[in-house]
Amino acid sequence: MAAWTLQSLIDARMTVTAYCHRTSCHHSQVLDLGKLRDRFGPDAPAMADDLTPKFKCARCGGKAVGVIYTPDSTTPIERSAYAQAKGGR
Ligand SMILES: [Zn+2]
Repeated sequence: MAAWTLQSLIDARMTVTAYCHRTSCHHSQVLDLGKLRDRFGPDAPAMADDLTPKFKCARCGGKAVGVIYTPDSTTPIERSAYAQAKGGR
C-alpha cells in the first residue's frame, strides 16, 4: 500500500474507522477525513502510525487507538454517475 495522505484517502473514498483497544470499551468511530484535512492539511501523512498518536478514545480517553481502512464498496461507474448527479461532489 502506498503512503496515504489525508487527501489521497478522501480521493480514494476510503473510510477510516478508529477503534479503542481497551477490551472493556471497544468504542469505534468513523473519522471525518474532511475535518482532519482542514486541521492537519491535505498532505498530512495518514498511515495508521501517523494517525493513531493524534487520537484518544472519545469514550474512555484511552490512548491505545487503532485504525481500520475500508475501501468504498460502490463500483467506479456507479460512483461517477452519482457524483455527476450531485454536481461533482
Ligand atoms: Zn475507549
